[in-house]
Amino acid sequence: MSKNIQAIRGMNDCLPSQTPIWQKVESALRNVVNSYGYSEIRMPIVEATELFKRSIGEVTDIVEKEMYTFDDRNGDSLTLRPEGTASCVRAGNEHGLLYNQIQRLWYMGPMFRHERPQKGRYRQFHQFGVETFGMNGPDIDAELIVLTARMWKVLGIENQVRLEINSLGSNEERANYREALIEFLKQHETVLDDDCRRRMLTNPLRVLDTKNADVQLILKDAPRLNDYFGDESKQHFSNLCERLDAFGIQYQINERLVRGLDYYNYTVFEWITDSLGAQGTVCAGGRYDGLVAQLGGKATPAVGFAMGLERLVLMLETLSLTQDVRRTVDVYVVMLGEQAEIKAPALIEQLRDELPDVRIQVNCGGGNFKKQFKKADKSGAEIALVFAEDEIANQTVSVKHLRKQQEQTTVNLSDAAQTITAAL
Ligand code: ATP
Ligand code: MG
Repeated sequence: MSKNIQAIRGMNDCLPSQTPIWQKVESALRNVVNSYGYSEIRMPIVEATELFKRSIGEVTDIVEKEMYTFDDRNGDSLTLRPEGTASCVRAGNEHGLLYNQIQRLWYMGPMFRHERPQKGRYRQFHQFGVETFGMNGPDIDAELIVLTARMWKVLGIENQVRLEINSLGSNEERANYREALIEFLKQHETVLDDDCRRRMLTNPLRVLDTKNADVQLILKDAPRLNDYFGDESKQHFSNLCERLDAFGIQYQINERLVRGLDYYNYTVFEWITDSLGAQGTVCAGGRYDGLVAQLGGKATPAVGFAMGLERLVLMLETLSLTQDVRRTVDVYVVMLGEQAEIKAPALIEQLRDELPDVRIQVNCGGGNFKKQFKKADKSGAEIALVFAEDEIANQTVSVKHLRKQQEQTTVNLSDAAQTITAAL
């Protein structure tokens, strides 16, 4: 016997039993961005490797060790996108969407990172992302945060997530701080692990979010980034805080929050949950005013975020918030006799014209009543429509409730739509 081929480790099938909850999450998120007037953009899944190296930064987890990179048949180095921001900026530059324009964009789709698979961390995962361009004030930063807060409310998880925010200041302020931080880290080099020591010289801010407890301890005395802020940075951040207060959104300022990617400045934020264990960040974002120019466009301010859909789905499952997920079948059609089998499906087509939102499944493969009702029950339908010889002869249909104790009724075909609507 030949060996079964299995899916790639860390890349999951989404089975029919799970798709309804995914659809619920996806449509909830889509509805919220639509309600703020955002437009969808769709980018390719594969891009030139150079795009991610130049935008995410050479010394980041993603570029150092997580990318799926390969040479195509022409010998060009391509990469399965590990995130959406770089592609979105590339697309925006390429099609002239960014310079001197205001854009509020969103996208949704698979991302790829070669990480160690575990709960909430996969090699193919899905993000819902938003990127906005052309606005440099904290008003849009606040809009993105309030919009994500609305998403949690719609999904019913608003009490399960908390917001952490920070400011990274301007590039210049961060460069000055970088020098001071390196100086400090050098004095404590013996305490640093290999990773931190390497990062100290290449990307010292990343040392701030180390998980190493010994290093965390010495960092208590490290110079603080916001001591290097000028008035503009201070005001941008305090204005953001003021706006969040006005929205009634609670947050914690976390000075250690620096984010893994190179391209952020000013605002960074994360929504974190305690209900998923170690993989607790469900949404992360920030301002990246330098990226558009870094990728060859004209300088354009930008701010965005991305959230992990697997983590949201896991949360809804963990919190048992999946009851209201819509069933796949509302109505199951049972037919007995040759005439019924031929004529009923055509009658159902007329019903579908009248009831486009009702999900009607028609029995296939015949069988006696008992067998068909068993299938009706398994389908999850709320009601069964029954067509036997009498119904066909009299132009009626019988309606049987599958989940409720209620009398079976027989109605004229012309009243069928109304009866079904009332029963669902
Ligand atoms: P983490 O610290 O968990 O590795 P990250 O900083 O690498 O996250 P981002 O690049 O900011 O993550 O991506 C935004 C969001 O995408 C994360 O907050 C998370 O919800 C989700 N995400 C990132 N990597 C994965 C993954 N490998 N599997 C599932 N979801 C992921
Ligand atoms: Mg990561």
